[in-house]
Amino acid sequence: MQYDSSFMTTLHQAPPMRRLALLLLLPVSLSAQSADLVLRHATIYTVNAKAPNAQAVAVKDGKIVYVGSDAGVAKFVGPSTRSFDLTGRFVYPGFVDSHAHFTGIGQREMTLNLEGTRTKEAFLARVDSAVKKARPGAWVAGRGWIETFWSPPLFPTRQDLDRIAPNNPVVLTRADGHASVANSMALRLAKVTKTTAVPSGGAINMDRDGEPTGMLIDHAQGLVLGIVPVATEADLERALQLASERELSLGWTQVQDAHGSWREVERMRKLYRDGRLKIRIYKTITGPGAEADRLIAQGPGESEFNDRFEVRAIKLVMDGALGSRGAALLAPYSDDVTNVGLITMDTVAAKDMMRRALKAGLQVWTHAIGDRGNRLTLNLYEGAFKAVPVAQRKVADPRWRDEHSQIVSPPDLVRFKQLGIIPSMQPSHAIGDLFFVPSRLGLERTKGAYAWQTFFSMGLPVAGGTDAPVERGEPMIEFYAAVARKSLDGKSGPGWHPEEKVTRAQALKMFTWNGAFAAFEERRHGSIEVGKAADFTVLDQDIMKVPEAQILKTKNVMTVVGGEIVYGGK
Ligand SMILES: [Zn+2]
Repeated sequence: MQYDSSFMTTLHQAPPMRRLALLLLLPVSLSAQSADLVLRHATIYTVNAKAPNAQAVAVKDGKIVYVGSDAGVAKFVGPSTRSFDLTGRFVYPGFVDSHAHFTGIGQREMTLNLEGTRTKEAFLARVDSAVKKARPGAWVAGRGWIETFWSPPLFPTRQDLDRIAPNNPVVLTRADGHASVANSMALRLAKVTKTTAVPSGGAINMDRDGEPTGMLIDHAQGLVLGIVPVATEADLERALQLASERELSLGWTQVQDAHGSWREVERMRKLYRDGRLKIRIYKTITGPGAEADRLIAQGPGESEFNDRFEVRAIKLVMDGALGSRGAALLAPYSDDVTNVGLITMDTVAAKDMMRRALKAGLQVWTHAIGDRGNRLTLNLYEGAFKAVPVAQRKVADPRWRDEHSQIVSPPDLVRFKQLGIIPSMQPSHAIGDLFFVPSRLGLERTKGAYAWQTFFSMGLPVAGGTDAPVERGEPMIEFYAAVARKSLDGKSGPGWHPEEKVTRAQALKMFTWNGAFAAFEERRHGSIEVGKAADFTVLDQDIMKVPEAQILKTKNVMTVVGGEIVYGGK
């Protein structure tokens, strides 16, 4: 057994009576000293500026009790300690996804996945087997087909699906999410006929006889997708558990869930009680409306299940997205000169709700993509801060957040700093969008777009997220996008503004400490320090040093949440 030399020094310096007492306590003290978990022989990036690197950590009762050298950690190893020699692997504070849609991640795992079907026959065979497993009348929904590989490369039709699914409504979304094919039963249930009014921003494809082919483009998809029934409680539980397992396997230790209902909250609480949810979730409730009012009435609660779950934020949506030209702009789209996008928020209700939320001590998140969407969000936040002075607030520094902060008019950038707004940003959005943003908005408006480094240089804690399942939701894709600001195959072009990329240290902070800060939890996790929760992500490569392209090939090998090994470690 190893002795702590500092403890022995204390023993020798103690007066005789104290010495006796200390001797009696000796076995107890030593067992208290031995850790539950030790990780050693590692390269540890702590995200603690005072001691940025270490070789070993020790964990007791879910908290970090030691950060330092392999020699120093030895005294924490007792008979019941699980001690891992990480053989030089790389340990980071547990990764935080500051913006994702948790239930949606699980649902994506559950729905019929049509990715990789290279022929129409393979596509139909996969649908056929899903239909055979479904009860008659039950919906079959799926996603991921793409006809460009088929010969001939033509869209599927309702008749193709009717042959294999006469008694089940079927709707299958193309890989890009911009089109879906429905069978006749689904069209009938959705009341889609040749005379249906076509929603703006959409199309209902017709055949030579003027009847719907089954193909619904963009906004017309909602006619059918909107009536697919909400999942049963059992489906919801399964989605939540699948989401948790997937996220932990990728190295995420917390997801900040970017919308939600009390139904979901109750379901999550049940799964935490049953030990089926291991990941941390910081949950928002969608507003404005009755659900958000309920949260305002109760105020921010205590964190639950050993700090794994907390409900203290309201999520609002200001505008649409760039892909469908719904993002609200100050001037028209360059490629659609009559269109300035959409404000989707009830701003009157939101204005009132924000003031009540501020008084109650709740955090507000607002989705804002276009420069007008962002300006209106800042205006509303500013109005609330003026109307409710600090003395009337339950929480003085509200840490309100702007979700996406994508296209910001340059004069508005500094207002984030002035108002203390957290830019919550998803690097993968930039490397997907920047291919079409220069033509859609013009090069001038790419200044102030995805302005990660500008926000960092103001001292703002940019919080990093994925927006999964809109994006794939993988930490290595986000880390790479943040530091490379290039597509996954290394491409970029005019308007990509490489000066807005971030350093690796900044990227690591986006997905650790800054995420924790954006949830008021930086004292609990977000860095590897004594006293904080033992949340670790262990990778097989050094993402702080490997060549850029290697980041994408890096794998998570172990995830630890609150001292519990929840993935890997075998
Ligand atoms: Zn989102």
